[in-house]
Amino acid sequence: MLTKIIKETEIEALRKVLAESERIVITCHVSPDGDAIGSSLALYHLLRDLGKNVNVITPDMPLLSLRFLQGWKEIIPFTKYGDFGTQLIHDSDLIFCLDFNSLYRVDRMRDTLMASKARKVLIDHHLGPEPFADVMISYPKMSSTCELLFRVICRLGLFNEVSRTCAECITTGMMTDTGNFSYNSNNPDLYIILSELIKKGVDKDRIYTLAMNTSSEDRVRLLGYAMSEKMKVFPEYKAALITLTQDELQRFNYRKGDTESLVNIPLSIPEVQWSVFMREEPEYIKVSARSQGEFAVNRLCETYFSGGGHKNAAGGEYRGSMQQAIDTYMSILDTLKK
Ligand code: 5GP
Ligand code: MN
Repeated sequence: MLTKIIKETEIEALRKVLAESERIVITCHVSPDGDAIGSSLALYHLLRDLGKNVNVITPDMPLLSLRFLQGWKEIIPFTKYGDFGTQLIHDSDLIFCLDFNSLYRVDRMRDTLMASKARKVLIDHHLGPEPFADVMISYPKMSSTCELLFRVICRLGLFNEVSRTCAECITTGMMTDTGNFSYNSNNPDLYIILSELIKKGVDKDRIYTLAMNTSSEDRVRLLGYAMSEKMKVFPEYKAALITLTQDELQRFNYRKGDTESLVNIPLSIPEVQWSVFMREEPEYIKVSARSQGEFAVNRLCETYFSGGGHKNAAGGEYRGSMQQAIDTYMSILDTLKK
């Protein structure tokens, strides 16, 4: 039996808005990852099977590596289909906001979402949610939004309606947000859920291969270059930094997603407790940070990189040159010395 976690009042409120809604939009955070897309598509399949009119609109293109998930082709990226997306949001009576805690995380879709009169339901596991939704199902202790969504579905009494396709999407999010069950993954409930998903027909091993262990040759070479040439280790601070400029990325025919999980690799060194990766984008430096144990990288990203996230996995951006971003990083090390 799963531990009962979600408040009954939240489930009842969700049950009511679902019954009263026909045209539903599902959205998630910008640069959607396995959990954002997994939860969005899982809910999409479930609600469609229940006869609702549903669309998934993402702020920008989802990771290409997730195209094996059924429904991926039906996703409407707002950056590509802004007018269509705006119309769908305008015409909807219910909007699900999955895997994000602040309207800033939907980037360019923010104004359109704010202008919409549709009721909103948030289902998310990030700390410090902004109270922008009518129904807030926010549980930061959950390892993934997909785990939380599975619990929501069960509590709504819809477990029997979960198809294999829906189960595959949930598995993908649970797996990617825990690094294939290697962190945030000690709750026994996770394995009860996983067992139920496998009983629905999910091939977990296939999902691991497709979602987490498939790379182009260029990507493998880029990772090799980043590790051997660009990783700096600062043992006295238990820290590691990797940086990649636009020039370097282009040399390896960089495609979105190619540096996914790169930031985790230095954490395999016992002397490294926190790891930062900086990637130069045309207009800013994208910062990703990961840690093990008590070092809170979300605080670091909030303070120095206009970002946030979880204690052990966070990110942000730096507006300036790569050199300035590196200087900022070095100044952080300085403050740790004191
Ligand atoms: P990643 O390093 O994979 O891009 O992001 C890891 C986590 O950090 C995300 O799940 C999200 O919670 C958080 N995060 C990443 N980028 C940002 C950002 O720009 N702003 C905020 N608030 N959080 C971010
Ligand atoms: Mn997530």
